[in-house]
Amino acid sequence: MRKNIVAGNWKMNNDLAQTEMLITELKMQTRTSNAEVMIAPTFTNLWQAYQTLKGNTIEVIAQNMHFAENGAYTGEISASMLKSIGVQTVILGHSERRAYYNETDESLSKKVDAALVNDMRIIFCFGEELADRKAGNEETVVESQIKNALFHLDADAFKNIVLAYEPVWAIGTGETASPEQAQDMHAFIRKTLANKYGSDVADSVSILYGGSVKPNNAKEIFGKPDVDGGLIGGASLKAEDFFAIVNAF
Ligand code: 13P
Repeated sequence: MRKNIVAGNWKMNNDLAQTEMLITELKMQTRTSNAEVMIAPTFTNLWQAYQTLKGNTIEVIAQNMHFAENGAYTGEISASMLKSIGVQTVILGHSERRAYYNETDESLSKKVDAALVNDMRIIFCFGEELADRKAGNEETVVESQIKNALFHLDADAFKNIVLAYEPVWAIGTGETASPEQAQDMHAFIRKTLANKYGSDVADSVSILYGGSVKPNNAKEIFGKPDVDGGLIGGASLKAEDFFAIVNAF
């Protein structure tokens, strides 16, 4: 059976002291669900977060990485660098990376390959913009994002891939996709996977929803059959809110 996952994407928030404080608060929360829980602090705080959470079931993951192993890429971080500090999972393809740092399906497919070669797990993000949805093109856009970055892989690779559908119009806007809109898209994504890799693979891949998930809407969204969890931005910055979402399963 596929896993339920709730991952907090901290984005560019929290310095070292704030990271330690939030982790201390997270450790005090009571967990009543069996969802896997992850947090993605910024690069400078990954090591400290990893050390502080040793022995805890909250996994520390990265928000991005470069596709090269090493070399003249000023300002970048490689998969092996992440692994050397214990980080096993990386978010790739977030819409903010695509929009502000020119990440493309092509560069993302290289990042996907680099992560897999290094035996890392990937949370692969994609999602349509508002104009796409208004034009009724959301499925075409999502299908091409998935195909272009992932469909060169063999079926086995999907053991290490989690998908995250994040409609751009719902990120940080307070506007959530309705549970029905999320379910419809997640079912479409699973069908797209099944057409290429068969239903065994499609049924085993966790598909997360991201975009203004809050304590008051998580239960309804997570209650949909093809929604296996969430990628949480703003609400992951408060321990109580984040755990209210974790415990919505
Ligand atoms: P918000 O939850 O703040 O809308 O952000 C979602 C997101 O981008 C998670 O990666």
